[in-house]
Amino acid sequence: MLYESTRGQFRRVSPAEAIKMGIAPDGGLFVPGEIPLVTGERLKEMTALSYQDKAVCILKEFLSDYTREEIKQCVELAYAPGKFDDPEVAPVRKLGDSLFILELWHGPTCAFKDMALQILPHLLTRAAAKTGEESTIVILVATSGDTGKAALEGFKDVPGTRIIVFYPERGVSEVQKLQMVTQEGENVDVVAVRGNFDDAQTGVKKIFGDAQFNRELEIENYTLSSANSINWGRLVPQIVYYFSAYLDLAARGEISFGEKINFVVPTGNFGNILAAFYAREMGLPVNRLICAANINNVLTGFIRTGIYDRVRQFKKTISPSMDILISSNLERLLYHLSGRDHAMVREWMEGLSKTGAYRVDKPTHARIGEVFWSDFADDDETLETISSLYRRCGYVVDTHTAVGVNVYEKYAAATGDGTKTVVASTASPFKFNESVARAILGEGAVRGKDEIELLEALSAATGMVIPPGLKDLDKKPVLHRKTAAKDRMKAAVRNILLNSAR
Ligand SMILES: *Cc1c(COP(=O)(O)O)cnc(C)c1O
Repeated sequence: MLYESTRGQFRRVSPAEAIKMGIAPDGGLFVPGEIPLVTGERLKEMTALSYQDKAVCILKEFLSDYTREEIKQCVELAYAPGKFDDPEVAPVRKLGDSLFILELWHGPTCAFKDMALQILPHLLTRAAAKTGEESTIVILVATSGDTGKAALEGFKDVPGTRIIVFYPERGVSEVQKLQMVTQEGENVDVVAVRGNFDDAQTGVKKIFGDAQFNRELEIENYTLSSANSINWGRLVPQIVYYFSAYLDLAARGEISFGEKINFVVPTGNFGNILAAFYAREMGLPVNRLICAANINNVLTGFIRTGIYDRVRQFKKTISPSMDILISSNLERLLYHLSGRDHAMVREWMEGLSKTGAYRVDKPTHARIGEVFWSDFADDDETLETISSLYRRCGYVVDTHTAVGVNVYEKYAAATGDGTKTVVASTASPFKFNESVARAILGEGAVRGKDEIELLEALSAATGMVIPPGLKDLDKKPVLHRKTAAKDRMKAAVRNILLNSAR
């Protein structure tokens, strides 16, 4: 299978090349030339397999130039029992007759990013070997909090790689910051950017696009790549858990084979929900994909009207991993739903970069509406959902997942659709414990306590065990203190790679 750029101005590449390059040189994203189909019979056969073996089946469909043995190795390294603290890897919990939760945060950093970032380094190092790459691969990451730590954990001490993470100095939670600045590993660097997430992301994109600097690095045997969800290697492992969730429901008799279900996905960069779209296109029986947004609700507007308009105030919320105005992976959806129309995708993306807005044509918008539905929740609704879910079911969700549950309730009320629905739970409640504690324990229990103290308070009140990755964070030594002005990120990379005596 070959991959092509959404913008159609670069040659087709092998899966290994697509993963190694991360982003296409014409500015587009790599997409599979065809989408493999999984028949109903094949789906049934997968039911009895472990999560790991299901992953091998799905990944093999897309990574045609990897051997089954190679994929098996990658999968086993990534989803090992020592890495994920639940034997099912991504367990499904039942909250109501038709409401289920898919817990995607049992990995080392307690957010769903681990599902992909635990395996990406292994896929990438094998891709480098396959394509004859001899340079050290340098992963540059801009993070609003969760991706950075997950990428650091995934890439630490992986031979042939270096990783540099940029985070907005004041844009991440205390827990997220401590997770990153205490990161161990010989090949890792963490830099605080004096700016917001968009500044960090723009800075990283500029470095990728700086041909002169890339040549300079090449001479020193470095080649840049991305671990953000623009990399196909991030998306494909995410398709697996939509299959596994469906098969788990079927195996437990909650649904019959072939019965359609809905997925609700708390969405930021549109990566997670896009993986669900690919699963649906592959033939997984899925009715609606419900895109849940917070008040940075550009996507809700887009799905309803066909107009993407990012020209608005960026708002900080209690679900920060969804505070995003430019959802990169939407480009892949537009490509597929426009009938693989490169020229149209180029035009829309040009509109986005020039004016901050574009409108898709009627047929494309109609196709979006057949698959997707969207609404949003503000911070008060998010807190109320955490609290009411805890009171009703004794189940604790984080702020992002709460946005998903809230939007599911709006969907059910608006449409009357009683289809069995799975909400993707994207982070452990302990990771966003300040808001969760406020919702469950009340304002008084939160006042005057820092996030580390609140871990204990939340655990004591709910009986949930603090995940090992978050415990004792304040006792670990701080290993990273570098900072950079937002327009000095390239200099920071140069210092780390070319001038440092490590
Ligand atoms: C990254 C993230 C999201 C958003 O996922 P996308 O793939 O960017 O849409 C939602 N919730 C949490 C906790 C995240 O870390």
